[in-house]
Amino acid sequence: MPVTVDKDMCIGCGACVGVCPVSALSLDDEGKSECDADACISCLSCVGTCPVSAISEA
Ligand code: SF4
Ligand code: SF4
Repeated sequence: MPVTVDKDMCIGCGACVGVCPVSALSLDDEGKSECDADACISCLSCVGTCPVSAISEA
C-alpha cells in the first residue's frame, strides 16, 4: 500500500524526497510532495521523516 501525502499539511521541505530509497516521492508544481503509487515499496521511511506528519500509511 503506497503512502498518502496530505498536501494541505505539506510545507514542501523535501525531506521525504531525499529519504525515499526508490525515488517514489517528488515535489509537484506547487512544491508539495506527491507519491508515485506504482513506485512506492511501502518501507515507511518517509512517514517518520516528515516534520509535520503529512505522510500517512494508506
Ligand atoms: S513508504 Fe518508502 S518507498 Fe514509499 S514513498 Fe515512502 S520512503 Fe518511498
Ligand atoms: S517531509 Fe513532509 S513537509 Fe516535507 S516535503 Fe515531504 S510531505 Fe512535505
